[in-house]
Amino acid sequence: MDSHLPAGPNNENFELIANSAPALIWASGPDKLCCFFNSAWLNFTGRTFEQEYGNGWAEGVHHEDLARCLEIYTTAFDKREKFTMEYRLRRYDGAFRWITDSGVPRYHTDGSFAGYVGSCMDIESLFESERVRTKGLSDAIAAMGARDHHIRQIVANAPFPIGIYVGREMRIEFANQSIIDVWGKGNDVVGKLYSEVLPELAEQNIYQQLDDVFTTGVPFHARNQRVDLQVNHKIRPYYFNYSFTALRDEHGEIYGVMNTAAEVTDIVLAKQEAEHRRKQLFNMILQAPVAMCIMMGDNLVVEVANQLMIDLWGKPKEDVLKKPIFEGLPEVKGQGLEETLANVYQTGKRFKAIEQPVQLLRNGRVETVFQNFIYEAYRDTDNTILGVIATTTDVTEQVKARQLLQRSIENERDINEELAASNEELAAVNEELIATNEELSLTQENLQKSEKLFRSIAVNIPKSIIIVIDKEHRFIAVEGELMTQMGFNGKDYEGKHPLEVGSPERYESSKHLYERVLKGEQFSEERVSATGEIFMVHMIPLVNESNEVYAGLIIALDITEMKEAERRSGKLAAIIHSSEDAIISKTLEGIITSWNQSAERIFGYTEAEMIGASILTLIPEDRRNEEVLIVSRIKNKERVEHFETKRVTKDGKLIDISLTISPVFDSRGDIIGISKIARDISEKKQEETRKSDFIGMVSHELKTPLTSLTAIIQVLNAKLKTSGDAFIAGGLEKANTQVKRMSSMINGFLNVSRLESGKILIEKHDFDLTELIREAISETELTVSSHQIQFDYSRPLMVHADHDKIGSVVSNLLSNAVKYSPNGSSIGVYAEEADGMVHVSVKDDGMGIKPHDMKRLFDRYYRVQSTHTKHISGFGIGLYLSAEIINRHNGKIWVESESGVGSTFHFTIPAGM
Ligand code: ADP
Repeated sequence: MDSHLPAGPNNENFELIANSAPALIWASGPDKLCCFFNSAWLNFTGRTFEQEYGNGWAEGVHHEDLARCLEIYTTAFDKREKFTMEYRLRRYDGAFRWITDSGVPRYHTDGSFAGYVGSCMDIESLFESERVRTKGLSDAIAAMGARDHHIRQIVANAPFPIGIYVGREMRIEFANQSIIDVWGKGNDVVGKLYSEVLPELAEQNIYQQLDDVFTTGVPFHARNQRVDLQVNHKIRPYYFNYSFTALRDEHGEIYGVMNTAAEVTDIVLAKQEAEHRRKQLFNMILQAPVAMCIMMGDNLVVEVANQLMIDLWGKPKEDVLKKPIFEGLPEVKGQGLEETLANVYQTGKRFKAIEQPVQLLRNGRVETVFQNFIYEAYRDTDNTILGVIATTTDVTEQVKARQLLQRSIENERDINEELAASNEELAAVNEELIATNEELSLTQENLQKSEKLFRSIAVNIPKSIIIVIDKEHRFIAVEGELMTQMGFNGKDYEGKHPLEVGSPERYESSKHLYERVLKGEQFSEERVSATGEIFMVHMIPLVNESNEVYAGLIIALDITEMKEAERRSGKLAAIIHSSEDAIISKTLEGIITSWNQSAERIFGYTEAEMIGASILTLIPEDRRNEEVLIVSRIKNKERVEHFETKRVTKDGKLIDISLTISPVFDSRGDIIGISKIARDISEKKQEETRKSDFIGMVSHELKTPLTSLTAIIQVLNAKLKTSGDAFIAGGLEKANTQVKRMSSMINGFLNVSRLESGKILIEKHDFDLTELIREAISETELTVSSHQIQFDYSRPLMVHADHDKIGSVVSNLLSNAVKYSPNGSSIGVYAEEADGMVHVSVKDDGMGIKPHDMKRLFDRYYRVQSTHTKHISGFGIGLYLSAEIINRHNGKIWVESESGVGSTFHFTIPAGM
């Protein structure tokens, strides 16, 4: 038959039961209209469901009874009360039969009103004759004849228990097979007293219920009622929905009670079991050695979370428990976790993440923590997903330790090897932790299915052993990879006392631990095994619902490797801590994440002040673009050469530092940060300044005697014109050249020293650069006859610059071209104007410069070292000075060269009017 009942979770069951019941059963909806009639009803009236539907059934009610019936039904319906009424209903053969009809309101599982359900009995058959009472229902049923044969069959074989008890003493007159089976007292029950057959019910109030029904005629109904029955000499609890209904004779006098029942033991036990498992799971989560929680429903309400999880969240319990997770932790929104969790909840697919950075608002500040986590669907026994179980390990410390390790790899070459080993080990420990987590969360599923809870955890946690002991210290379970290592040699320990399976000494050494845990103390201890392994032993009391300890859970984990890695990273941290250089790490966004003691000494800020602050705090205003450049180079995986620069300290002092910069990688090789090693070189710089001051002073002192020497040579030259001695003339000419060279060298040193003490002033005028070049060429030609210098340019090229200083740049380039190219070769000078700049180049066909020298050519005192240059004098300051001069004109200077072919030096300065 089609279901016309409003949808509800138990419709199917209801129809099934109703259709196999011998009683006539109907149901109505909240609109009072009838929407269900069972098979017994339709058999009785001989009509179809469609005919009876709605108010159709009223056609079958005797016209004298109808008004009264409707009145009783409507009144009870409006008040949602039970009712019982008697009326005559037309049977399939046209005869009206008296029936009694009892209706009760029914409700949906959410508590909303669903209508009524009623059951009716043909009481006329009971009125009919004495025979019913005296000879028993079976006779009465037999008397129904062949036509009613199937009804008799149904009653006798109905899958639910039916019994009829007669007289106040409750003599069993009829019992179908089903009730006989339930009682479990054998088939020979008819004719005996109810109390004889079921003496165990004396204390269970049931005799009283029967007696009340017999006295008052008011039916009694019980739901999910526990009844302890003695079956095969054992008292066991069963659960029933049962009814006692009064039976009346033709005078309306009560002569007995009919008992119908449905056994619901399985359903109730299943429910209790589910509840028990749920509690066990929650209990397990609360006591787990990793952070765990369960979130229920599609808005992920935190149903349970252990202390480790709460600590990780860093919020008071009340702020997160029993609330949707993203309401309790709003700061976690927008980090991608919503989608991930929703996906696990909808698809049931497990999600796992390693070293996931999560921003948490903990104790009032936003912190980045790194977590390994697993999200797993939390399922009901029928596999429907109820929520999500999250297992989390905070690996922030490990990640930080590894970052430290990686930073140092770049810089502490001598400990490189050790670092690599530590790194690997940390990663291995990490892996293991993840594996452990995974296994732990895997077992939650088992939890719901398997009795062997601890066993399955134990065998799945690598390098562990799990022992469960009862209150007498007997082993309930001993499992895990480390069994043999811990001295358990694979015997069956279940139910045995440690003294039965091991030495008294061994028991003695653990006894006090067992006693402590069984007293309810939860604690962890490090223990060293005979073979030197280090174990972390967690002792966890297992408590039942009323908070009594019923067993002790002992989890031992081999932490030897973890300890070793810890030791290594501790050693490393000590190195970093005590380093003379400031070691600082920061994110790619420039947020400082570590700060050692030397950083504090050099920059004056404490670690607490700087963690979380911006690196820009240390960078002077005019060097901030340095930082942008460094970050973009690191991001592009380019190497950054160490360089010298300036930084500001806490008290605003500018200091000179030498910086080494390297990237920090995560375990996947992605760049997640930058580490900097800064060395304070202020001392060195001051030393250099002192040197340069000294050179300046010396050069200055040398200039005075040299000036008089030049004057003397000039006077001698004048006198010589009269004497005409060719030898002396030649000698004086040479003396003059040497004095000129010497004075140009001394000038060079003087200029360096002036430059460095900031005493070089650039005085700009407008002048014609071609004119200046021509002057410089003829001056060079005065002393040099070995080379041809070409310069063909007739148009003036106006510049706005310092005439003398640009002159010295051109002279320097010319004299270098002469110095570093063979005699007889030619030198070309070119000049042009483009885009507001004047471009000058000096080209020679000399020895050229190797690529690695080219970058450093413009450094102070830098000279190329080779057999060619060994005999060419110079101090490596000409190009340095030229570069400084050009820079101060906002111009550029550079070189193009090929070794053995020749060089071209270029510079540009802004054009004038
Ligand atoms: P100096 O010539 O006094 O050594 P500079 O600063 O003028 O100092 O030049 C630095 C170095 O650059 C020189 O020592 C030389 O090795 C190289 N150099 C300069 N000009 C040339 C050139 N035209 N050809 C080859 N090498 C050159």
